[in-house]
Amino acid sequence: MQLSSLLNRFSEPETLKMAKLGRALRSQGHDITDLSLGEPDFNTPDHIKQAAKEAIDANYSHYTPVSGYLDLREAVCVKLKRDNGLDFTPDQIVVSTGAKQSIANVILALVDLGDEVIIPTPYWVTYSALVTLAGGIPVLIQTRIEDGFKLKPEALAAHITPKTKLFMFSSPCNPSGAVYTKEELAGLVAVFKHHPGINILSDEIYEYIRFDGMHESIGCFDEVKDRTIIINGLSKGYAMTGWRLGYMAGPIELAKACDKLQGQFTSATNSIAQRAAIAALLGDMKPTQEMVSAFRTRRSKIIELLQEIPNIRCHEPEGAFYVFPDVSDYFGKKSPDGEIIHDAGDLCKYLLNQAHVSTVTGAAFGEPKCIRLSFANSLENIEKGIDRIKLAMSKLN
Ligand code: PLP
Repeated sequence: MQLSSLLNRFSEPETLKMAKLGRALRSQGHDITDLSLGEPDFNTPDHIKQAAKEAIDANYSHYTPVSGYLDLREAVCVKLKRDNGLDFTPDQIVVSTGAKQSIANVILALVDLGDEVIIPTPYWVTYSALVTLAGGIPVLIQTRIEDGFKLKPEALAAHITPKTKLFMFSSPCNPSGAVYTKEELAGLVAVFKHHPGINILSDEIYEYIRFDGMHESIGCFDEVKDRTIIINGLSKGYAMTGWRLGYMAGPIELAKACDKLQGQFTSATNSIAQRAAIAALLGDMKPTQEMVSAFRTRRSKIIELLQEIPNIRCHEPEGAFYVFPDVSDYFGKKSPDGEIIHDAGDLCKYLLNQAHVSTVTGAAFGEPKCIRLSFANSLENIEKGIDRIKLAMSKLN
């Protein structure tokens, strides 16, 4: 069968590849500690599940408007005003099958052949895959661990060209955990002020999972608010990854374009998840706060344990549930079996096969010096996993 050339423009996400390898070893009877998980290890809060059960009984079983039920889009507007001080109307909101689809809709609606899209790295790899899929050119700007993996305004300015159509980033960031302060965002906005043609996609899916300070949205700045597209969803903050519900909020013409695309691809996301989403967005935030408090304890633990491993450099994440240590001092070393660790990918494979701990190579996020460890796992598993990593790393020389 001759498959389309489109498929060659991107590869399977490394995160999913690692999960597959881990599952294969587990099925052979190995005790694998999974520190590659990209989702909260918590259950969806009860009041949200209850709303879904009631929706089934009330026969919410029909197609819904492509952009989502009106009262759900109203709830999104309430949330954006309440949490972020942002003013949106329901016709500016499109609800989708996860934030991933919302991002895909926006990119396909905005990016033309040859358009450049600036993405600070490390970044969630789906961003560049979608840009290339749309025929655009991802322009990656490396950030440094010394700068907390945050983009400096000068670096942004230096990468802007007449072809720059979009800037996209996440704060809190997957994989670095970096969270931009209002001052840092103001620095970027000062650059965008001189480039009115550049749109901004602000992925705020980890908004609630942060450990210090306030969440700040770049959409709050007057200079860019009319060209900022907010992406958010329920997956991370409400432990609802499997429900598949995300949304975009942006200019009306873009919302209409996303509605048009989605109308051909998937139509609306499922009706029951939409009813549950209203309960989530307008309901009790205590379960989310408890989850974040558990993540905070685990963050301290994993950082403390990682600091005991020689020659790795770790930035303390301000949000999300990942640490992203620089492990490049280990490149060039040999495993007890005589295999050379050339890069982070080799190190992840070594850790999986020898330590039985699943992690993800930083190359998957555009930063090949690092690996990503998730602390969306119990304290017990974090301790076990890092202990095993420490032992395996000590055998490299
Ligand atoms: N944005 C970022 C930065 C993510 O890490 C993820 C999921 O890993 C998503 C978006 C997608 O979330 P959803 O489950 O809503 O599609």
